[in-house]
Amino acid sequence: MTDPDPTTTGPLAPDDITADSPFTLPGFFGALSEGRLVAARCTECDEHMLPPRTACYSCGGRAVSLSEQPKTGEVVSYTSVNRPPSAFEHLAPVTVAVVELDSSARLTGRVDAALADVAIGDRVELRVRDPEAAGIDPAFDLSYEAEWPVHVFELA
Ligand SMILES: [Zn+2]
Repeated sequence: MTDPDPTTTGPLAPDDITADSPFTLPGFFGALSEGRLVAARCTECDEHMLPPRTACYSCGGRAVSLSEQPKTGEVVSYTSVNRPPSAFEHLAPVTVAVVELDSSARLTGRVDAALADVAIGDRVELRVRDPEAAGIDPAFDLSYEAEWPVHVFELA
């Protein structure tokens, strides 16, 4: 996959969105498996959309560009999930946080730490793992998710 032109703006036509486009979830996770975290950015109001969307959910603008994101940021909110999806059941309770990346884009994800060890303002770094290496049973995967990596934040 080649790097998207960061200056390309919409509105996007259906032909602009191929199966491996970061504007689709398979494309988003495909980029993530290559270590690239890609957001869409509204050229009208600067809102980040992560994963990318073809239209801005803040102002409704349809001129968006793709923007590679930093993998470091800070916890702005967090909680404990005692009944996670079945693939993560063996990891329960799971700490989940909303992280504001250093670009100001926000991404929700699991934190590889106990709830008591996490605090608002903590610095974290996003890691991308192969699902099996992360202890996720591939039998739980939906067929279209089988190749998708697992993202997790680690305390920096
Ligand atoms: Zn906008």
